[in-house]
Amino acid sequence: MVIKKHSKLTYLSMKLLNLLTFKDLPIRQKFISFSVGTAFWLVVIATIGLITMYQVNKVSKRMVEVIEPQQKVGNILIRKIRGASISAHKILLAKDTEKVNSNRMKGFSRIEDCRSYLNVLLTGGQIKDYSRGTGQFYAEFKVVAITDPAKIELVKDISSKVSELEKLLDKIAESRFRTKTGDSSSAELEEYDALTRDSVEKINEYINSLEAEWRSFQDILNSTFQFFMFLTLFVFAVSLGLSIFFGARISAALSHPISNLIHQIKSLASGELDLTRKLAVSSKDELGELSNEFNRLMDTISNVTSFKKVIEEDETMEDIYMRLGKVFVEYLKIDNFVIYEVTNSKNAMRIVYPPEAEGLELNCKRDIQLDCELCRTKRTGHIVSSLDYPQVCKYFNDNRINSHVCVPIIIGGAVGGVVQIVCDKPERCEVVDLKNKISRAEQYIREVQPVLEAKRLMRTLKDSSVKDVLTGFYNRRFLEESFENLVAGLLRRGTTLGLLMCDLDFFKQTNDVYGHDVGDMVLKETANNIRKGVRSSDIVIRFGGEEFIVLLVDIKTGDSFGVGDKIREIIQDSKIKMAGGYIQKTISIGVSEFPIDTQNFWEAIKYADVALYKAKETGRNKVVRFDMSMWTEEKY
Ligand code: GH3
Ligand code: MG
Ligand code: MG
Repeated sequence: MVIKKHSKLTYLSMKLLNLLTFKDLPIRQKFISFSVGTAFWLVVIATIGLITMYQVNKVSKRMVEVIEPQQKVGNILIRKIRGASISAHKILLAKDTEKVNSNRMKGFSRIEDCRSYLNVLLTGGQIKDYSRGTGQFYAEFKVVAITDPAKIELVKDISSKVSELEKLLDKIAESRFRTKTGDSSSAELEEYDALTRDSVEKINEYINSLEAEWRSFQDILNSTFQFFMFLTLFVFAVSLGLSIFFGARISAALSHPISNLIHQIKSLASGELDLTRKLAVSSKDELGELSNEFNRLMDTISNVTSFKKVIEEDETMEDIYMRLGKVFVEYLKIDNFVIYEVTNSKNAMRIVYPPEAEGLELNCKRDIQLDCELCRTKRTGHIVSSLDYPQVCKYFNDNRINSHVCVPIIIGGAVGGVVQIVCDKPERCEVVDLKNKISRAEQYIREVQPVLEAKRLMRTLKDSSVKDVLTGFYNRRFLEESFENLVAGLLRRGTTLGLLMCDLDFFKQTNDVYGHDVGDMVLKETANNIRKGVRSSDIVIRFGGEEFIVLLVDIKTGDSFGVGDKIREIIQDSKIKMAGGYIQKTISIGVSEFPIDTQNFWEAIKYADVALYKAKETGRNKVVRFDMSMWTEEKY
């Protein structure tokens, strides 16, 4: 249970990893996704940079545009108040009224400046800084109104102090007018100086509070910078790590299957490939598809190779047709097809697959079986496909509904057969699929061709050596080659073989009177008549000249004589047509039975021959059963 859970977890995590590393995406999409991922991280880093810049800009703007001018005002205020203080002192020291008045005016205007600057601090506005002593213009700048309630209180406090200074300055000047010397005003001046110190202290307090604010903004700037620096580095590290990881995964997913494929192709080229070893298919992208197709190719090569080995060792052409049919059905999944063989002699075509052609519903008109030249594929030696050209063959039934592809089997440079593949369910028939199947079927057909050619050649050779050309029946050589098998079968089954040695009566006369051609014809007819008298499992052999031996396989002991007599009767009754009339011949037959008469096969033949001799001797047109009393002459 635990193992199952574990493996399920592994499976799920593998699946997730495959999904994240775009393993099953087509190669193009893999790279697009990778680029999108990289672009995403670049956007993240750029966004962090932008936010940092925005934050820094916001803070420093406040520092430069708000705090600094407010601070500057503070410094100017101190300068002005000090200036006013100098004016106050100068009033006392003044020798004449004019001097008193001018210093009084300077003091007032300085205090007036202070008041207007303090107002600007409360309401915001433009500051123009002049020196009241020299009239020199220092600076002009904008001030943003202070908002902090504590600072507003402080400014108001300074304002009231400035008003008091103004009053005191007036007092100092008035008393200076009343007295000759400055003595009388020294107490007021002291008060003025104290108030000045007080005001300067308050302004310093104001400046300090701004400085504190400045420092706090500096701290904010520092920490903002540090935070975003750290974040940028972190995101950069993460994105770098991810891109290395994904890059490695994606490139591995691409390079592994490719190098495996290269390795397989190299071994295939050098002939060292183990065809059963498959490529691992780990993805569903183009490479997965390529590996799959390569495996399928290997499969086909492997199957075709082993198929070829097997058919080379098959005994007959029929065996090969069966095996080809089986591959079509079981391996290629072709369910409707027929294999035709072009027969050597009769210009006909016969169905060799399926094996039971009887009652088979054919897709071709029957005519082609009688005249193979009607078959378009046989005639042209080309593939005839209604998929490429509808209704291409007029001998194909249901041309309008069904499709067919006919592939020639080339044997010995000519069309030796035709494979007809039919699609009778158009709705289920995928053209691409069918074409694919046909091209694979062609591979098998190509393998089959040389083997069929060899088999056909062997069959012809064998036929010519063991068959008689005139009658088409087996000859003596066949008996010599196959009697051992025949005898072994008989002994195993414990059955009897009847031997009929047949010889036409006075055949020499026929030759002499009607000529050799008529003689040949009589021989052929006789052979056919003998065939008519026996079962299909019996073997008729032209033993030599006008002698035939009939092997009655698995006959009931004692029945051979009856069969011989039946043959004799058929021949006696048969009228052989010839120019200007007909001929009737008779035959004499000697009968023996193996292993009843003897355990030796060739001796049994001899016994039949002895019986034949007896038949000739005792009047011809008769059947004689051998018995041992006939076995008198030592020469046998
Ligand atoms: P019987 O057997 O009744 O004693 O008389 P017969 O005339 O048949 O005598 P025999 O068996 O000696 O003659 C066989 C003749 O068959 C000899 C040969 O000319 C003829 N013969 C053998 N082979 C052929 C053949 O292939 N074609 C033809 N036309 N004649 C053949
Ligand atoms: Mg003879
Ligand atoms: Mg004869």
